[in-house]
Parts: sequence; C-alpha cells; structure tokens
Amino acid sequence: MATATLTIDLDAIAANWRALDRLSDPATQTAAVVKADAYGLGSKRVVRALAEAGARRFFVAVAEEGAAVRQALGPGPQINVLGGHMAGDTEMVHDLELTPMLNSVDQITRHLESLPGHPFGIQLDTGMNRLGLEPAEWEAVAPLVLEQGPELVMSHLACADEPDHPMNAVQLAEFHALTDGIGVPRSLAATGGILLGPEYHFELTRPGVGLYGGRPFFDAYPVVRLDLPVIQTREVAAGEIVGYSCGYTADQPRLVATLGAGYADGITRRLSGIGTLWDGDTPVPILGRVSMDLITADISHLRQIPRSLTLLGPMQGVDDVADLTGTIGYEVLTSLGHRYARRYASTATRGQA
Ligand SMILES: *Cc1c(COP(=O)(O)O)cnc(C)c1O
Repeated sequence: MATATLTIDLDAIAANWRALDRLSDPATQTAAVVKADAYGLGSKRVVRALAEAGARRFFVAVAEEGAAVRQALGPGPQINVLGGHMAGDTEMVHDLELTPMLNSVDQITRHLESLPGHPFGIQLDTGMNRLGLEPAEWEAVAPLVLEQGPELVMSHLACADEPDHPMNAVQLAEFHALTDGIGVPRSLAATGGILLGPEYHFELTRPGVGLYGGRPFFDAYPVVRLDLPVIQTREVAAGEIVGYSCGYTADQPRLVATLGAGYADGITRRLSGIGTLWDGDTPVPILGRVSMDLITADISHLRQIPRSLTLLGPMQGVDDVADLTGTIGYEVLTSLGHRYARRYASTATRGQA
C-alpha cells in the first residue's frame, strides 16, 4: 500500500476532553469544538468518542458541518453553529435542530422571523473584532433578545494562548460589563481560556485544539500519528542531485528513501530540506524538495531499510512541525489530507485515563 497512514487515537481525545473538563468547576459544562471536521481528524468518529466521554454540546463553524455531527450523534446533543444563521441555513437549522450563535442584528432578525421559538445563542464582540455584536448593538437589542430566551451568550478571547497578555483581562471585564445579571448561561473560554483560570470559565467552556493534543494544552495526550511508507530506495553517488530544482546535491554517497506522501497530503513544502522524519527514535532528514506525492529522505545511517517513517508521532508532534514551518498546530492538523488511510485506534492512554 502506497498511501500513508494517519492514526487517530480516540481514547486520547476522550482523555483530553476529560482532563480539560476537570480543570473547571463541576457545575461548568465542557463542550467540544469539532469545526473543520474535528480539526481535520474526522468529525463522525471524534464526536462519537467525545459523546461517550460525556460531551453534550458541540460547536461547528457552519451549518453544513452540523449536519455531519447530527448524523453521527442522533437527536439529543446540542450542536451550536459559530457562523450563526446565514441566509439559506434556515431549513438545516430547523431540520437538524442546530443552535445558531447569532452574531449580528441581521442574523437575529433572520432567525427570529424565520424560526420563532427555535433555540439560538448570541455572540458578543469583546474586542477581538472578528465575530459578534458590538457593545452598542447589544445594548440596543438585548431587551428584545433576552425576552426570546437565548440558550447561551458567548464571546471569544483574542490572546488566550498568552496568559500574561493584558487583552485577556480587558475582554473579561468587557464580557462582565455586557452580560452580568442577564440570567443566561455564558461562555468565554476556549482551550487557552480554560487554562487562564476559573474566572474565565463561566457556565460553559469550549475547548477545541486541546482535545486534539495541541498547544496551549501542554499536558495533552498525543492524538495523531502519521506514518509514510517507503516506496523505493536508491544509492546516490556524491555529486548527484535529488528531487525538483536539484534541491539536494549529495556531498557523499547516500542511501535515499522515497516516501509516499507530499504537499497534496498537507505536508507543507516548507519542510523541504529542513524537516525530519523518524525511524523509531532515530531522526531521518528530509532531502531536497517535498513534492506533491513524494518526499525523499536520507536513510544512510539506518541499520535496515524501514517499511515506513514517521512524520507525526512520539518524537515530533503537530506543534513541533508547526514551529519548524512558521505556523501553528491548528494549521498542521487541519491541513492533513484526505488521501491517508485513516486508522482510529485506542492505544496511547488505555489504562491511564
Ligand atoms: C475555534 C474556536 C474555539 C476553540 O478554540 P481552541 O483554541 O481550538 O480551543 C472556541 N470558540 C470559538 C469561537 C472558536 O472559533
């Protein structure tokens, strides 16, 4: 088989959810953010594992993603749509019992007119300037909106991954100013906000990346493993080149392995010439350019030719690859391609969590 294998540890995801859940008061509900196909890991399997662990509320980005989650979970669990209620969403919101998190006066009007009595939540902007009602808008519509009984009022922190950033306290104070006394469950914290401490938790937290083993939840169990099969090996003489644009020239005779995955699988070209694969705990440098479907690596120092090499695993996590390539773990995860053979395993944490 020439496709790479992406192994996703559902037990680790469940254990991470429980660990994040334990960080807040038992009275605080812990939801799960499963947008972008559960950060690229497959929402169907992930939401089932999370529901089994005890999650009762799930957040997706758009109504279409909510359809897959509802199909996987059946009726009961709440599914909140962060993008709110867009034109054309009404039927889906109704039929799939989605809860749109309304973020503008237009959306509030659309929702209350098209689906009166249907559950909804409200998003407020407390300074991030991305999504949600501005304070003045909220002031104008709050009496009418609160009369309609929103399920949840939430906002989002811009800098929660930096605990000492002054913006956190600014947004917390603004959220209090906008919502104290409204008598509706409130939510401010994603993964980073949970780690900031109890004053950020309110009635509901919304972790995403921490469930999938990413920073800023440093204590997370690792969730993904990505193994690339060795398709071919060859000896390259000193002075010969490897790959596109003559990206590597051999300084001495090298044994080169060609692996079956590339940038079409979400392995960024920025790893060209600088990335590392792993044979167990032995590093194997990537040689030359990452191409669409193939990567070349120097296995001269290995005792035997491996069947596969590991890009993501115990020696190198999503954040390590992100650091090396100038991005964040979130992007490494959500870039993982659709060509992998996906295995859902329960290996890392059995008996531990
Ligand atoms: C993505 C997102 C989350 C989850 O954030 P993480 O940092 O992945 O935990 C929570 N709330 C909102 C509004 C989001 O967009």
